Amino acid sequence: MKNFLRAGAASLLLISLFCLCPRPTRAADIPLEQQARSANVTLYTFSGEKWITLPDLAFLLKGSVNHHAATGRTELKFSKHNLVLLPETNKVLYDNQVQEMKQTPRLVAGVMAIPVNFATYLLNLAFIPADQRSETTFRPVPSGAGKTEGRESAAGDTGLPENVTLQPGIAELISKTAAKSEIVLVLDPGHGGHDSGAIGSIRGLEEKLVNLDLALRLENYLKNRPKLKIFLTRKDDTFVSLPDRTKFANDNNADLLISIHTNSARYNRYTADGFETFYPRSKAAVLASNVSLETDEIAALLTPPSGDRVIQQSQFLAAHIQERLASWLITPDRGIKKANFWMLKESGMTSVLVEVGFICNPNIEANLQQPEVRQAIARAIGEGLENYLDAKPLKSPISVGGSVVEKPDNE
Ligand SMILES: [Zn+2]
Repeated sequence: MKNFLRAGAASLLLISLFCLCPRPTRAADIPLEQQARSANVTLYTFSGEKWITLPDLAFLLKGSVNHHAATGRTELKFSKHNLVLLPETNKVLYDNQVQEMKQTPRLVAGVMAIPVNFATYLLNLAFIPADQRSETTFRPVPSGAGKTEGRESAAGDTGLPENVTLQPGIAELISKTAAKSEIVLVLDPGHGGHDSGAIGSIRGLEEKLVNLDLALRLENYLKNRPKLKIFLTRKDDTFVSLPDRTKFANDNNADLLISIHTNSARYNRYTADGFETFYPRSKAAVLASNVSLETDEIAALLTPPSGDRVIQQSQFLAAHIQERLASWLITPDRGIKKANFWMLKESGMTSVLVEVGFICNPNIEANLQQPEVRQAIARAIGEGLENYLDAKPLKSPISVGGSVVEKPDNE
């Protein structure tokens, strides 16, 4: 940190000297390496590549550098441009677009450095057509296209692929729900009001707003499905406690509950990635309307207890939602997992909690701001629900279990 300040102070002095000399108006006109040489700026060589520190780059570009010690975030500003780097990731934000370096930034004498080639690429970006830029987003891809990549989740984070099959009597319960004259679905956008949920690392995007927008989009996607009656635990940015949310679902005699969240990790915040769907480990109580199985006594003896039956329906719904998310997103598929979250345990019906992506990851945060990404996620959840109600079989084995990396804060 001390080193950084010193370098910055030196740059300030040099900038004022440098400004006396004529220099090209467009940085891209003269190769950066040549500019560095004529300005006596030191370049560093690592694995055969030339690197430049951000204060030196700022000096060449007549810009300024800011370093935030708490987050490790370094920001370079020059003319109308803005470059943000984080210590652990090769993703950078340049003029509000996520760009990818081949390597993560290096610390040289205590300050951040990037390859000269990458700096040159950024400086020339204004002249490169948008579709040729190496922008890396998890933009929705057409059905199935991202599947292989999506399955490359980190070992240890997910369980083993399993064929999620239905136990005796469960298919009947699902089709019984689907055949009801009115199917009550409660959508639960997590957090709200003073509880912002997780917060994005770079833009400060609040989870509560993403969750709400996803729920409203999902409601809109499902609104034309016959017989489906949809309630939301909140329709605006207000705080609703967890007990009030489950009470709302129970009081409305809901058949299905979908809780929507974005994820956050305590460690590796900039690289944590992927989506996962949780289903209940246990149920405190189950609504009568959700368990009635009109079987004879012998069949009743063969079927699992009512709580288990609702858990199995929840697992099947989670698997269907996860399958559709995997077909829309190219982020890692973290599988479906059991959890004892309040919303899952205290709700008396088939319930799942979807974590659509890690908002703490700068790339995901940037993506979650895009309407088309939100629409794709909402639609994926909706398609999963429809496939569940329509008794569609699952297309492929689903990763079940695995470690719950982080319990979402207040869910
Ligand atoms: Zn949350």
